[in-house]
Amino acid sequence: MTALQLSETETTVLAHIRAKPDGTYQSELWKDLGVDSRTCSRILKKLEDGGYIEREECKKDGTRTYLVRIVKTEKTINPMLLMAGETIVPCVACDEECDIEHCKMLEDWVYELVFSEME
Ligand code: SF4
Repeated sequence: MTALQLSETETTVLAHIRAKPDGTYQSELWKDLGVDSRTCSRILKKLEDGGYIEREECKKDGTRTYLVRIVKTEKTINPMLLMAGETIVPCVACDEECDIEHCKMLEDWVYELVFSEME
């Protein structure tokens, strides 16, 4: 997904929603932000289409509205990418001052990775 170009107002709306982990009601959001409901609705549609937020239809105080939440993206990493054979990349637990071009630990790990690929 390509990141949308967000205006300052849209970025503010997104930050406001992000600050409410349990979500916020659309019917309250536009009032909190001091924008009119149509503008708020248009911004939320753009953020929803861009994959930033999700809206769930609901009732609040007897009125139909949406519960608006940030879309949580799972950032996962394949742990096998950190492994060379049975050895994990040394950077994971390294507290040395990093000099990547001359790092013997990383060099050894890369050699092990290459040799484990050849087996
Ligand atoms: S490259 Fe070497 S020094 Fe740098 S973080 Fe990795 S193991 Fe540590």
